[in-house]
Amino acid sequence: MLINGYEVVVGLEVHAELNTKTKIYCSCRNSFGLEVNTQVCPICLGMPGTLPTLNEKVVEYAIKMGHALNCSINRICKQDRKNYFYPDLPKSYQISQADIPLCHDGYLDVIMDNGDVKRIGVERIHIEEDAGKLLHSDKFEGSLVDFNRCGVPLIEIVSRPDLRSAEEAKAYLETIRSILKYIDISDCKMQEGSIRCDVNVSVHKPGEPFGTRCEMKNVNSFSTVVKGIEFEARRQISELEAGRTIVQETRRWDDQLGESVAMRSKEDAQDYRYFPEPDLLTIVVPEEKVAELKATLPELPNAKIMRYVNDYGIGRYDASMIVDVIEKSEFFEKCIAAGCKSPKILSNWVLGEISKFMNEGTAIEDTKLTPEKMSELVGLIADGKISTAAGKTVFDIIIKEDRDILSIVEEKGLAQVSDESALEAIADEVLAANEKSVADYLGGKTNALGYLVGQCMKLSKGKANPGAMKEIILKKISG
Ligand SMILES: [Zn+2]
Repeated sequence: MLINGYEVVVGLEVHAELNTKTKIYCSCRNSFGLEVNTQVCPICLGMPGTLPTLNEKVVEYAIKMGHALNCSINRICKQDRKNYFYPDLPKSYQISQADIPLCHDGYLDVIMDNGDVKRIGVERIHIEEDAGKLLHSDKFEGSLVDFNRCGVPLIEIVSRPDLRSAEEAKAYLETIRSILKYIDISDCKMQEGSIRCDVNVSVHKPGEPFGTRCEMKNVNSFSTVVKGIEFEARRQISELEAGRTIVQETRRWDDQLGESVAMRSKEDAQDYRYFPEPDLLTIVVPEEKVAELKATLPELPNAKIMRYVNDYGIGRYDASMIVDVIEKSEFFEKCIAAGCKSPKILSNWVLGEISKFMNEGTAIEDTKLTPEKMSELVGLIADGKISTAAGKTVFDIIIKEDRDILSIVEEKGLAQVSDESALEAIADEVLAANEKSVADYLGGKTNALGYLVGQCMKLSKGKANPGAMKEIILKKISG
């Protein structure tokens, strides 16, 4: 996509908090939202003389993500100190990985809204520890520090500058989030900061070398990523158009202003003085372990979407909506396994009525609806035995009560009339009473047919099979 003849180039650094039980270098609990400064110990508080011990699960989780993003795994790698001072970092250094990341040189195929698949390079995935959190409030003077987050394990996923628009960046992030959820290594709660993002943006004319990039730090929602990229691209283009040059700098997104604000330029960028972490051993992962972790990966979201499209004939967009929420896709597949006749009709119900319940916070397991019942209901609709509207009446009952579907259909008189002679009688009555509409239709006003079918449906109190009804009317008028 070009803006005023410029191409936008975006690279993303995604930080995802891992959902291990304990922190990366100590046995403190890794849990969000607990009383401030209660999940701490001498190690994560950086007391002198303490020694870190690497949580093996962190390495396993990162390798799983590496496999999911088609990376090569560095079975032998190290951890490094990144030195800087900030009040939320009691050690005054963060343990990260500098030149040898755990995973490198992978890619992610992203399905765009128009169905195109775009391959985005993944430069590296490394492990590191999170810092604490500064609290600011009008209730107290100055700032307070909560160290609970110190030592929470993170992976940083660094993309190559392969993204060409804000939309592509959003689709990439959504796919990353979906994978993290599927392999169950992160809570992915944006509002709790479990996924955060640094965004690199530059612009250039196609065919020319990449422009100077600016980095936006700590963008914490997908919509802000979109706004940030769009703003930054326009800002850089107008600078260039005005004959100025882009200064390499770090910028901060200000949500209230709706723009990015310069934080520091390259000249005063920090030198982190990376060096190998002397308190930790070299990481050595046996080859069998790497293979074993690969074997534990579930079917990933993209593969699932394509399977729904190819095997079940569902539209790609609907498929991705179902796949995006694991519970929806699990229920969908259980219905298929229970012999559901029409995956297409089923997908409409999963995205419609069932999603409504789930969005209100009710899990399907907590209702009376079973995959078997749902399949039976879809079957009745698919066979034309009841209408979709009647299906809704049945659905509203079987989600609350454990009842037999056919007896509900009987009791409420919901069975669709497909019997030809009954439908003919209805058609005769409607045609006799609507001669003008018949004449209209014969005169070329084709939408008069819809009106006539509607009248038949009304007369049958919604029980006539609309498809069969339409055919009978057509036959009668045209014959
Ligand atoms: Zn601790």
